[in-house]
Amino acid sequence: MLGAFDQRGGERAGGVVTVDEKRGVILAVHADPTQAEGPITDLGDVILLPALVNAHTHCELSDIREPLGRPGMPFVDWIREVIAWKEANLATPQARQNAIRRGWLEVKRGGAARVCDVVSALRYGDLPVYDDPLLHAESHLELMGHALGWAEDALLKAREFVGRPQASRRVAAGRRSGWQAGLSPHAPYTASLELVASIADVSRKAACPVSIHLAESEEELELLATGGGPFRELLLERGIYRKEHFPGGRTPLDYLEALRPAAAVSVIHGTFLSDAEIDFIARQPNFRLVYCPRTHAYFHDRSWPLARRLARCGSVLIGTDSRASNPDLSIFDELKFVSATAPDVSPRDLIAGSLSASAASSAGNRLNDWLVIEAPTDVADPYEAALHVRATLKGFLYEWRSRDA
Ligand SMILES: [Zn+2]
Repeated sequence: MLGAFDQRGGERAGGVVTVDEKRGVILAVHADPTQAEGPITDLGDVILLPALVNAHTHCELSDIREPLGRPGMPFVDWIREVIAWKEANLATPQARQNAIRRGWLEVKRGGAARVCDVVSALRYGDLPVYDDPLLHAESHLELMGHALGWAEDALLKAREFVGRPQASRRVAAGRRSGWQAGLSPHAPYTASLELVASIADVSRKAACPVSIHLAESEEELELLATGGGPFRELLLERGIYRKEHFPGGRTPLDYLEALRPAAAVSVIHGTFLSDAEIDFIARQPNFRLVYCPRTHAYFHDRSWPLARRLARCGSVLIGTDSRASNPDLSIFDELKFVSATAPDVSPRDLIAGSLSASAASSAGNRLNDWLVIEAPTDVADPYEAALHVRATLKGFLYEWRSRDA
């Protein structure tokens, strides 16, 4: 074995890991193999890394074979493609449940022990209930609505969703795996400011997390600032444009302010947030910024300012987003992509940042909290080696050992 990291990404010299097979836990990491007792299984040139968090995805879109549309296409045209795909392929509860289950499996295979998954089920019974010792799944119910009535219906759904018995039972038990309800007012072009503020209130009362796509495109900023542009055309096409909901003169900061009372807020993408808006997020202890690297690269030539935002916010979570804009749901491949394309961010910071936010799910010595990564032996720095282009994820330590036995 090449080495292991500790639960917060700190380096631990290691050669031999002593495990208690019955309890499924790691007892010790020894730099010196002669300190170990009992039979030794050679794992090869591997690094042990705590399991990761996939901070944003849409598993219900996991049946999409390759990203919809084409790279660099206008964002609003891509949204049209997503709507058409969902209407054609997610018509039945069974189709949605199957897709979500496949997505969760893919998320897990990609090295995540915790996932934040946005679902747009019409009824709660449409959702599978997940109970897997390897995964903590947060399901964020996607909510849309501008006009009165539509928004009220969404709010009713939100209250019922977070009141599901599974939500409180799993959270109360303090389990690291299981299922937790969350809410996702979709985006400013689909959820009115009033609905967003009401959802923040539900989140505060139910202590459930919230996520929102915000400042993802320049077209969104144009709609907020002027009430017009390509998004207005799309909303008109769908018969849901109401002038009074887009009065102009707004910015993403209005939505951040509306979400301030929520229990926990993930701001997804935030590509076009101003420095003042990033500083707002940095100042709120309940706010997190989520970056989806390969999805960003699908739409944009310019890079997402990760190093600058890491410096301002302390940490930035990484998500895969969906297969509508990403070839797979592997969070490990997402980190490798950043490591290869953002030379101004060190692999050490990337790993430490990704893990510190995931400590709740990955801390501990359970075998299934740890990933086995086959890493190149000619790269001296273990952080660089773990995310090197030639590194491959072999699986969770628990599963991999079982296969080996
Ligand atoms: Zn998304």
